[in-house]
Amino acid sequence: MAKEIKQKNVYLFGNKFADGKADMKNLLGGKGANLAEMSLIGVPVPPGFTITTEMCTEYNLHGRDGVIKLIKKEVEEGIAFTEKIMGSKFGDKKNPCLFSVRSGARASMPGMMDTILNLGLNDEVAEGLVKKSGNDRFVWDSYRRFVQMYGDVVMGLKPESKEDIDPFEEIIEHLKEKKKVTDDSQLTAADFKELVKLFKKAVKDKTGKDFPTDPWEQLWGSIMSVFDSWMNERAIFYRKLNNIPAEWGTAVNVQAMVFGNMGLTSATGVAFTRDAGTGEDIFNGEYLINAQGEDVVAGIRTPQQITKEGSIRWAKLANVTEKDRAKNFPSLEETMPKLYKELMKTQEKLENHYKDMQDLEFTIQDGKLWMLQTRNGKRTGAAMVKIAVDMLDQKMIDEKTAILRVEPNKLDELLHPVFDKTAISNAKVVAKGLPASPGAATGQIVFHADEAEEWAAKGKNIILVRIETSPEDLKGMNVANGILTARGGMTSHAAVVARGMGKCCVSGAGAIKIDYKKRTLETGGVKFEEGDWISLNGSTGEVYNGKIETRTPELSGDFGKLMKLADKNSRMLVRTNADTPHDAKVAREFGAQGIGLCRTEHMFFEGIKIKAMREMILADDEAGRRAGLAKLLPMQREDFEGIFEAMHDLPVTVRLLDPPLHEFVPHEEANQAEMAKEMGISAAEVKAKVESLHEFNPMLGHRGCRLGNTYPEISEMQTRAIIEAALNLKKKGITAKPEIMIPLTGTYKEMKMQEDIVRSTIETVFKERKDKIDYLVGTMIEVPRAALVADKIAESAEFFSFGTNDLTQMTFGYSRDDAGKFLPVYLEKGLLKNDPFQILDQEGVGQLIKMAIEKGRSTRKKLKVGICGEHGGEPSSVEFCHTVGMDYVSCSPFRVPIARLAAAQAALKETKKTVKKATAKKK
Ligand code: PEP
Ligand code: MG
Repeated sequence: MAKEIKQKNVYLFGNKFADGKADMKNLLGGKGANLAEMSLIGVPVPPGFTITTEMCTEYNLHGRDGVIKLIKKEVEEGIAFTEKIMGSKFGDKKNPCLFSVRSGARASMPGMMDTILNLGLNDEVAEGLVKKSGNDRFVWDSYRRFVQMYGDVVMGLKPESKEDIDPFEEIIEHLKEKKKVTDDSQLTAADFKELVKLFKKAVKDKTGKDFPTDPWEQLWGSIMSVFDSWMNERAIFYRKLNNIPAEWGTAVNVQAMVFGNMGLTSATGVAFTRDAGTGEDIFNGEYLINAQGEDVVAGIRTPQQITKEGSIRWAKLANVTEKDRAKNFPSLEETMPKLYKELMKTQEKLENHYKDMQDLEFTIQDGKLWMLQTRNGKRTGAAMVKIAVDMLDQKMIDEKTAILRVEPNKLDELLHPVFDKTAISNAKVVAKGLPASPGAATGQIVFHADEAEEWAAKGKNIILVRIETSPEDLKGMNVANGILTARGGMTSHAAVVARGMGKCCVSGAGAIKIDYKKRTLETGGVKFEEGDWISLNGSTGEVYNGKIETRTPELSGDFGKLMKLADKNSRMLVRTNADTPHDAKVAREFGAQGIGLCRTEHMFFEGIKIKAMREMILADDEAGRRAGLAKLLPMQREDFEGIFEAMHDLPVTVRLLDPPLHEFVPHEEANQAEMAKEMGISAAEVKAKVESLHEFNPMLGHRGCRLGNTYPEISEMQTRAIIEAALNLKKKGITAKPEIMIPLTGTYKEMKMQEDIVRSTIETVFKERKDKIDYLVGTMIEVPRAALVADKIAESAEFFSFGTNDLTQMTFGYSRDDAGKFLPVYLEKGLLKNDPFQILDQEGVGQLIKMAIEKGRSTRKKLKVGICGEHGGEPSSVEFCHTVGMDYVSCSPFRVPIARLAAAQAALKETKKTVKKATAKKK
């Protein structure tokens, strides 16, 4: 049984009155709340009422009768209220008032749910309306549209699949054939009247039921259908995509109809108070004379521009002459100047009232302007920044609002190459993978990293296509415009490295089949060969056939302004994960305040370095290893000099060697033979050594500090290279601030042993050089045990950096490399809300972080704390890092601006209470 709810369930609006207001979106939905608000501030909206979202939930629990019982009286009052304002009556034969019934959820879900227009018509009402309006074609057209919509939505005639034809459309097509006309506009009043008859017959034939003639029955049927549409497949899918909970429900807006298709003094249109693409402060939009709302978006007629300026601009782009434009496509400013002025005033009023760019829908009925909808308009990243900064300059909003107005992730669009708009509109998608690293890339397919280098050296644009990538592919990745892999998730090697490089990458495109031998790629029946052109959109995961031109976006002055404001308002600093001077420089330009993670292993792959590295790994004893390391030392030192110089005066966290050694050795026979020759041993010996390094579970194997503690000479060499590089720069007047970081610590003793090795090496170097620099020794926290004993570990570590990639892997027990097999299913089934490798699991992993910081700082009050896992550039995770008192977040160079903005937003959102625990200050 439906429970008795005492509160109001139906909210009226119209004629400068409203029961609701803008901040009641949860109850009235976005559309309903804004209709109420518009009415309150004197904007003309067709009167009506909103049935609350709670009634949708009630409907889902108790069904039609339960809801009707609750709202019947209020709905009747709502209809009476509307009738009074409109001066007409629902179902009246002489002077009828027609209604629209529309959905409206808390968050906008464009086109996902159902709408019924022109409700309240039957044969007698239609005849009456013909007399009243004197426009029989309009009336019968409206009537057939109503039967069609109601038949589709309420009576279930809507085709189930895209391939099926709407039965009503089929009837229209038959009639047009019979009448030998091609366009709906050639149909007469009598034709529409005939269609109404045929439509009703179709309803009866298909459902066995008569089309309802009672307006009240029509109304209740429509209301319930809109509630039903909350649970339709499209809506459920959209909610999943946009993280909208099913419990929210939709409101239902019942509103007096106004008609834009009543003749040449009527029109309908959509408009934006500013340009949603560029953010320019220009009112713009489209309209059509003598049309209903859907005609503007349906693309049957060419919509015209609202302003004359916009119209002239449009004509240029569309290659339309001024004469043709003025005659056939004039602006509203020209055709209805008085109404245009009124619309102009209304849009200004609405923007000033909401203090944000508005997306408007309006209808002009017989010379009177009605506003049907206003909402904050969706916009591109560039527009988002420009509008926020402009509105701040125009003193419409304050600094805090300007910062909070921009979605950090949207900044991504401003930082990477983008496809040329016209080129992309003709492109064909051939596969879809994960949007691993944003941007647009176009190039010729190459399957092997070394060949990628060769092609690139010849000046070719290439896309490196791999089943998956390994560190050996690094150089090939570096020269490619984009990377496509068939396997691997968002934290796969390809994804992490590509993001670090700011390079477009689509990973885990499972449907593509790669044949390295034949050098072919097959997807969806299309076969590509080496050298064929493809294009990637790393922001959506789409793979396109052929070459699509790209453009480099310009970072405007507004962007810089916003970033300055962000830094002024944040507490945490933003560092970057960078392994090369080039990346360090890029990150610095994006405002990085240091390096939070320099993965030294990436330095070992180039040319002779990999040979020396392999020599070290393949050596039988310490002496052999030391010989290989001695060759590596000068190369490492040089690499560090480059990075320290690029990051001068800012701290650089250098992590000692982390990956399992197996990743560095040659796996293919030819390479093994080459290595054997160089080392003067047999190929069989190399092969045996490589096999001996094989681990079943290398990510949980011989890596991180386990390497440094079994082979201390590796840590020694790296420490020496770091400190010598810093001392060399000091001589040149350049300050380096190294922070040496021990990876994968799990126990105090592991950390202490590494600390001792590092510190004693440093003392030796200081003595040799008779010089000193400041430095820190700290650790990554990426093994759950380290978080549990963080107070002990902080006795040795001067800083903690949370490696949340590994910490997530080990806390969940999900392999970073293999979770791709079940994570999509888990997300689909709702077992996980988000991919924990992308969005920090605050509930679980977050607890470990919080605890580790508290424990760490209980030992060492000034313990410096940061994060360097992929989450360091993800806005909700950055906010979490702020609330638990981290000093900085570190992320790939191209995410630095995103993290800066997210850090500012976190500080601005924070209530005074949560600050208390944060002992960290800007250092
Ligand atoms: C981590 O584990 O979060 C981390 C930054 O280290 P890596 O990704 O190199 O394992
Ligand atoms: Mg790690």
